[in-house]
Amino acid sequence: MKPDLFEAPDYYNLDDLLTEEHKLVRSAARDWVKRDISPIIEEAAQKAEFPKEIIKGLAEIGAFGPYIPEEYGGAGLDQISYGLIMQEIERGDSGVRSTASVQSSLVMYPIFKFGTEAQRKTYLPKLASGEFMGCFGLTEPDHGSNPGGMVTNFKDKGDHYLLNGAKMWISNAPFADIAVVWAKDESGRIHGLIVERGMEGFSTPTTHNKWSLRASATGELIFDNVKVPKENLLPNKSGLGAPLMCLDSARFGIAWGAIGAAMDCYDTALRYAKEREQFGKPIGSFQLQQKKLAEMITEITKAQLLAWRLGSLRNEGKATSAQISMAKRNNVEMALKIAREARQILGGMGITGEYSIMRHMMNLESVVTYEGTHDIHLLITGMDVTGLNAFK
Ligand SMILES: Cc1cc2nc3c(=O)[nH]c(=O)nc-3n(C[C@H](O)[C@H](O)[C@H](O)COP(=O)(O)OP(=O)(O)OC[C@H]3O[C@@H](n4cnc5c(N)ncnc54)[C@H](O)[C@@H]3O)c2cc1C
Repeated sequence: MKPDLFEAPDYYNLDDLLTEEHKLVRSAARDWVKRDISPIIEEAAQKAEFPKEIIKGLAEIGAFGPYIPEEYGGAGLDQISYGLIMQEIERGDSGVRSTASVQSSLVMYPIFKFGTEAQRKTYLPKLASGEFMGCFGLTEPDHGSNPGGMVTNFKDKGDHYLLNGAKMWISNAPFADIAVVWAKDESGRIHGLIVERGMEGFSTPTTHNKWSLRASATGELIFDNVKVPKENLLPNKSGLGAPLMCLDSARFGIAWGAIGAAMDCYDTALRYAKEREQFGKPIGSFQLQQKKLAEMITEITKAQLLAWRLGSLRNEGKATSAQISMAKRNNVEMALKIAREARQILGGMGITGEYSIMRHMMNLESVVTYEGTHDIHLLITGMDVTGLNAFK
């Protein structure tokens, strides 16, 4: 892969909206991606291997629990800092960002928000340092966009719960030490349970042959009469709203992360267009290529503004789930379109691993689908503005 020459675009001087702390957090993440991700990520993706050696670095830049209070090992940062960290990591690779998103928003967040003090103290510091890795089991083979239909369930057996069922498409599953699993009790109400690797009847087979997020490990979670201690239930919230709150946090991170992938594609294509000559001049001098680049920077700038405003609303505790859906949907679609256009600017070179664009493009095909598909987020916006529910 070519050396990482990335320069971040900031067409509207949006850095003026950031605090010194935001910029410091961002530059630590940016430097780390340049030093520790860019040199290894292409080979990891080609081999379809999650590069475990990056876990320590992710913890050091505060990517595990950026907004979890410091007393539990988190970085104690605000939502914009969290977003900026996700942006920088996804600038390197969406799969690496997925690992960090899951650990922070889908494992640490529910334990922090819905767990007991004992659960927080047991798990959060280890998850923040990367000593423990976690995964989040919501999706099932027959229930993706409609997780409320899940069939994974647990029965109260007096001194423990007995868990049965299966989850599919679970990021980090093949190596996770713990899983936050969503399952129905005997009355059909959804609860979160912490399931630990090594519990009898719990297995995590790897999902192979992905063309997308190849540097992120994906797998299944199988529960065959797993005895889960009662103290592993997250007691402070139940119902579908609990996992959906986690998804709000993760989707917010994705809205920022997608900007990172888009910035990398734009920056690569811009440099290439100025250097590559055809018909005796740089291809960047042709109007058709300029149109692509001009539209890319316009869309990136709009997405940056959306993300920043959403971060401010989240800092004030005012962002709605529908506002988060809009940003996730818009920014991922924006990044995917930019990846496809940037790939064309590089011509044949665009399909090779010499450049990051094709990898970003393939990765974003998962990002546009997970955490609520593109169409599902559109229906959420539609429901919000009309007051009419298209899901029923
Ligand atoms: C790489 C990867 C990693 C993932 N990681 C995780 C994870 O860590 N944890 C986890 O729990 N899940 C994870 N997922 C699962 C992901 O969230 C689901 O794939 C996603 O929610 C869609 O579910 P599905 O694949 O079953 O598609 P389906 O729900 O079957 O949808 C198929 C198509 O139908 C459309 N559709 C569905 N319902 C409607 C409707 N009412 N109206 C209009 N169109 C509709 C969808 O938009 C989509 O285009 C991951 C997925 C991938 C690909």
